[in-house]
Amino acid sequence: MVRQAKCVFCGSEIEPGTGVMYVMNDGTILWFCSSKCLKNYRMKRDPRKYKWTLKYGQQAK
Ligand SMILES: [Zn+2]
Repeated sequence: MVRQAKCVFCGSEIEPGTGVMYVMNDGTILWFCSSKCLKNYRMKRDPRKYKWTLKYGQQAK
């Protein structure tokens, strides 16, 4: 069973069968809606600073 995943970077929902899976060194699996999001995540960018993400404008904890 595949759970509805959300993009780790931009926060949008990932359609089943799409998206990019990224396995970190410690085995944690992260899902991204696109390679664009993966690239931005790996560059350690903050999604809250980008208008095209759903996290834009959100407050840090
Ligand atoms: Zn995304």
